[in-house]
Amino acid sequence: MAALNTVTSRPLVYFDGRLVPWEEARVHVFTPLAKYGAGVFEGIRAYWNADARQLFVFRVREHLDRLTYSQVMMRMQPLVPAPTVQAAMMALLQANAFSETVHIRAMVYVDGEGESSAAGPTALTITALARPMPPRVRAGVRAQVSSWRRISDQAMPMRAKSNANYNNGRLAGMQATVDGYDAAIILNDRGKVSEGPGMCLFIVRGGVPITPDLTSDILESITRETVLTLLGEDMGLAPVQRQVDRSELIAAEEAFFCGTGWEITPITSVDGIPIGSGEPGPITRALQTLYFDVVHGRDPSRAHWCTPVPM
Ligand code: PMP
Repeated sequence: MAALNTVTSRPLVYFDGRLVPWEEARVHVFTPLAKYGAGVFEGIRAYWNADARQLFVFRVREHLDRLTYSQVMMRMQPLVPAPTVQAAMMALLQANAFSETVHIRAMVYVDGEGESSAAGPTALTITALARPMPPRVRAGVRAQVSSWRRISDQAMPMRAKSNANYNNGRLAGMQATVDGYDAAIILNDRGKVSEGPGMCLFIVRGGVPITPDLTSDILESITRETVLTLLGEDMGLAPVQRQVDRSELIAAEEAFFCGTGWEITPITSVDGIPIGSGEPGPITRALQTLYFDVVHGRDPSRAHWCTPVPM
């Protein structure tokens, strides 16, 4: 896990309207971003297709729509419009001339010297770092049901990708690591399964994929929606969105996390109890094959999800 958090290359960063060296992308300690976590962000992937020698950004429109929603929800003003973010992102990817898969982080934040109710001034920064596939995608992860509860939608808008939300998942993830697990599953304040710290979750019961519904205090995940589409349209399954009980995790024959960062990651055990055979299951494996074809731009029927970066 540590390797994921280590910045080994130091590519250019989009910051303050320019592309600057990594070390120069700095904000002041007195910004509302630093003091109150007044920022919203998107994690986006661009996949390198080696055969086509082309980098494709996956579902960029959906990510930028959500970034706009997050700014509105968190009362930021003036809004940084989606076309501005997209142009900056493309310029950054082009300038860094990546020939590998990258993880992009686009953040709009409250700059300046305001207090907690400051709406602006807003600023945009974007980083992109090489992110090869971690071993967990093949091997799967051992998950722990966290003793922390998901923040309720009545307290914080978990539909928004607001920096301030992320200390909830941070505590759950750190607890899981300290207790010897790879990842956390977080229940909401009604005791139903919600999601992981940075990913959504599916289980499979009796061949039916099931995922917590959109009112289970989850992020409206773009990967979750992609997975629902692929399971239904390409794999001929009938996925269900509903409330999920904790005890159903153990009754499942398969389970997996999904998200831009986590892609499709099998869950092999929960609280030390193996899920199914304790190995990634057949639906999970078939979905992984399909998903990686789609995101790399190898599936013509989903080409509209893959935006080529001008080389
Ligand atoms: N839940 C949370 C809390 C997340 O941070 C993420 C990552 N953005 C996800 C789910 C997965 O969302 P997406 O598929 O849009 O990346």
